[in-house]
Amino acid sequence: LKTAFDPMRQISKQIGQIAKAIASGERAIDILDYEPHVRDFPGATKAHPFYGSVSFQDVSFGYDPNRQILKQVNFAVEPGQQIALVGPSGSGKSTLASLLLRLYDPTDGGILIDGRDIRSYKLDSLRQQISVVMQDSVLFAVSIRENITYGRLGATDAEVEHAARLANAHDFIMDLPQGYDTVVSERGGTLSGGQRQRIAIARAAIRHSPIVILDEPTTGLDGASEHAVNEALNRLTQGSTTFLISHNLRAVERFDLIFYIEKGEILERGTHPELMAQAGRYAQLYRLQNDANNLDPQGIEHVLEA
Ligand code: ADP
Ligand code: MG
Repeated sequence: LKTAFDPMRQISKQIGQIAKAIASGERAIDILDYEPHVRDFPGATKAHPFYGSVSFQDVSFGYDPNRQILKQVNFAVEPGQQIALVGPSGSGKSTLASLLLRLYDPTDGGILIDGRDIRSYKLDSLRQQISVVMQDSVLFAVSIRENITYGRLGATDAEVEHAARLANAHDFIMDLPQGYDTVVSERGGTLSGGQRQRIAIARAAIRHSPIVILDEPTTGLDGASEHAVNEALNRLTQGSTTFLISHNLRAVERFDLIFYIEKGEILERGTHPELMAQAGRYAQLYRLQNDANNLDPQGIEHVLEA
């Protein structure tokens, strides 16, 4: 028997959408905001499993039509390449990453994954293949097991534990009185900042994504937990096309490619030695940070924010 309107179905559909939003690494609240703007394009098809090549072709974007944030951004990266985005606050790094997730569409130009415009893929199938770890990850007031499972609904307990081990989280989880069944408080409380990040990394790891976005994942952590989180991030990003946004230039030295971004433009690009040899803005910033770091190990953030 069919009813014209079934509120329970509507609600469960919404919960499903929110779970998917979480699984995409977005804040649940954001998807509700974005939903009206970005939709499946007519004729969009389910994405194949990505290899992970990404290219931006003359991408321009502004939140407000009168103010351009990204200006004709061009680059092409290969599957599995590790790319760092550095530059002053407000230069457009997070905006660039959010365009790859299609939280917004470019006002001009196009973004390709595996050679196809991302607007030709169904939104779900695009976002399911991109993992995101941000500063201050959002955890929910449910068990640690469920928080990790949001990465891929239907994951088994064994898969949850495997992901937690990869993320350097298994041991501290087992030390909690309720283990994986410990209910997380939404803000602080049960877990330290570094532990929360490691749960978020486990949630990302369970997805095995070909593309990973890390937006200042260690900002605000102390040295010891930064080390544990970085180790987890190295394992998470192994073999995946990776975009790391970081203020800490020492953390990006080993990257395949570094983009120095200022005012919405990639001003310099190359490996660390190449950029140092160019003796431009990146090299200047690197020296400044190194000096600050030698004077004051906690000083890095202050210099970049200045
Ligand atoms: P970064 O990550 O490099 O610090 P962002 O991409 O966050 O820079 O921001 C670039 C610019 O876009 C900034 O001027 C910022 O204020 C603006 N901006 C960021 N997000 C939004 C938004 N949702 N709506 C309007 N403006 C925004
Ligand atoms: Mg940012």
